[in-house]
Amino acid sequence: MKAAYKANREKGIEIRDIPVPKISSNEVLVKVKKAAICGTDIHLYEWNDWCENVNAKNPMVIGHEFCGEVVEVGKNVRSIKEGYLVAGETHIPCGQCNMCKTGKQHICQNMKIIGVHTDGAFAEYIKIPEVCAWQLSKSTSPEVGAIYEPFAIAVHGVLKDKIAGLSTVIIGAGPIGMFAVEVANVAGSSQIFVVDINEYRLNLAIKMGKNIIALNSNKEDVVKVIREKTGGIGAEVVIELSGSTAGTKNGFEVLGKSGRICLIGLHSKEVTLDLVNNVIYKESTIYGITGREMFDSWYLADNLMQSGKIDVKKVITHEFSLDETEKAILTAKEGNCGKVILNIS
Ligand SMILES: [Zn+2]
Ligand SMILES: [Zn+2]
Repeated sequence: MKAAYKANREKGIEIRDIPVPKISSNEVLVKVKKAAICGTDIHLYEWNDWCENVNAKNPMVIGHEFCGEVVEVGKNVRSIKEGYLVAGETHIPCGQCNMCKTGKQHICQNMKIIGVHTDGAFAEYIKIPEVCAWQLSKSTSPEVGAIYEPFAIAVHGVLKDKIAGLSTVIIGAGPIGMFAVEVANVAGSSQIFVVDINEYRLNLAIKMGKNIIALNSNKEDVVKVIREKTGGIGAEVVIELSGSTAGTKNGFEVLGKSGRICLIGLHSKEVTLDLVNNVIYKESTIYGITGREMFDSWYLADNLMQSGKIDVKKVITHEFSLDETEKAILTAKEGNCGKVILNIS
């Protein structure tokens, strides 16, 4: 089969012919229809420090956001059958540890990640454990199926706590930021501010709902504008997706008293914060959010997708073939795009 293959621990990706994976008794084989490029794939393409820090597999097939049809199931697989259309949950839980046994499989002590620690989805076929196969309705279009995984991260963060009637700031207008705008909008945020430094992304993000206020933090005093527009009290909800120090500091500064902030964007270095004024005196609630709750976030994401109240296709701006994986990754890296999709079969 054809696959986007990371052959060594240096920058680049190549298209190679490799054997179709052989499944074990608890796995399913999926013929990939569409996949999507994520920030993780950019790290793996670059092969930066992050890859060594997370002990990424090498050599391997990259990619973890995908949708496809199940073509073979292992002998112990019960919930998934041949012919099912599935999306992939990226976190592979061990099923045995204290987190797995208390309903927090997504932060398993022994977690492995598809496309980081096991061969990924930028290939004609991928094998995944039964637990990672999320059945989609047959009417789901494959490109929408391929973005369930990142969409459900936005769902996890935005719906972590109260949101209806509350002013909401989304920092970082990448694809998950755009999904977060859509979810906050449909869930009833009173005002939505979206902050980024990329005009292309801000222009796309304001199309995710009505009266979305886009703020370019390179051009405007974000803290001042949001304070003014919230009657001086600050935002009640902040969703931080930029992973930048400046974005995170802005997030804490615009957060009003008794507000909540969800930290989702990953930082490449430590961040210094004024905890006294930003957290203690405000009695702020901070949530760390990683991945999707298994499977609370998936049920919510599915319900929202099926409701017809959300149009995630607006976030998809570019499509490439598997042969063009490098071009697709570089497009995502450059940033003048929404979600970038790979058409595989
Ligand atoms: Zn991802
Ligand atoms: Zn576990």
